[in-house]
Amino acid sequence: MGVSSLKELRKYSEGFTSSEKVMPLLFVGHGSPMNAIEDNEFSKRWEQMGKEIAQPAAVLCISAHWLTRGTHVTAMDQPTTIHDFGGFPQALFDVQYPAPGNSTLATEVKGLIKSTNVGLNHDWGLDHGTWSVVKRMYPDAKIPVLQLSIDYNKPAQYHFELAKELAALRKKGVLIIGSGNMVHNLGMIAWSKINEPEYGFDWAHEINAVFKKNISERNFLPLINYESLGTAAKLAVPTPDHYYPLIYTLGLMEKSDDVSFFNDKAVGGSLTMTSFKTA
Ligand code: ZN
Repeated sequence: MGVSSLKELRKYSEGFTSSEKVMPLLFVGHGSPMNAIEDNEFSKRWEQMGKEIAQPAAVLCISAHWLTRGTHVTAMDQPTTIHDFGGFPQALFDVQYPAPGNSTLATEVKGLIKSTNVGLNHDWGLDHGTWSVVKRMYPDAKIPVLQLSIDYNKPAQYHFELAKELAALRKKGVLIIGSGNMVHNLGMIAWSKINEPEYGFDWAHEINAVFKKNISERNFLPLINYESLGTAAKLAVPTPDHYYPLIYTLGLMEKSDDVSFFNDKAVGGSLTMTSFKTA
């Protein structure tokens, strides 16, 4: 056995063997890419969260910004930092997050998901839905970070069921993060009030409370069928890209998981940063 395969074996045996400890789940409202470099209440809470929860062996992120046909998992050894936005300061484009990937874990993810043939991806990397949050949580960039894409042709129920297939990873030290926003209507953002703390439209506060209540009570059906939750839900989720990461987190929740919310604030009227952790 060569040195490289020995190394691979060590990584695998140390990182991804079953243990009694179950990693928490995170749903993170990531909001503006600027949260990656601004020291604000949201990014400070992400930093604190990185210290609060047990150090994971790896991170698997379902980001609102990787929408694909079919489901794919990043499988490269060194994912690139993708700057998938425009109109922001150079400082944001200068950010690099050189966390490694882990092809062993990618293959394991592919193996766990039986309902579809998951593609091993070598072209994507880490988009800002992932790195804006994970860089603040784990600034050393030592922990392997993988992304799982969202098959955008599929409905919420499909994603809820697919997520369940990943459950075993939580017992193997993998921190699974859904990164999106529960309320995300960029077309209605009140730009004049973007810096006003906790500025949310009535409908945004209303549906945020409905989302939180259903999450706390593990009443997932209305969250999967969010389109039937009325006008406020339609305004909150004009397109499901930022909502589907939440569905993954819900699909992975076990009966024993308690939910605690954080960054539960509205920004610019039509966006919420509302996030939660299970423990
Ligand atoms: Zn986003």
